[in-house]
Amino acid sequence: MKADRCDFCSSGRLLPRRVRHLYRAGRRVLVVMDNVPAYVCNQCGHRYFDGEVVEEMDRVSRRRSQLKRKVTLPQFTFRAVKTAR
Ligand SMILES: [Zn+2]
Repeated sequence: MKADRCDFCSSGRLLPRRVRHLYRAGRRVLVVMDNVPAYVCNQCGHRYFDGEVVEEMDRVSRRRSQLKRKVTLPQFTFRAVKTAR
C-alpha cells in the first residue's frame, strides 16, 4: 500500500492497524478474521487491505478444518421506514 490518503473521504490519513474483519467466503459464510493487517482512515474509519492480505483471507477461509469455532449471527432484513421530509 503506497498511498497514505483515504480515497473514500479524501481528507483522512491511513494508519496501519490490526483489525477484526468479517470476510465473506461464498454466499452463506462469513468468517470472523482477527488480527488482520489493514490501513484505517483516521477520519472516516474506512479500511484498506493489501492484495496479498485479501488473498490470505481467501485461502484461510477455505481451510474450514483450521477454523477455531463457529458462532451464530442473527440475521435481519431491513424494511423500509417512513422518513420525515
Ligand atoms: Zn477516510
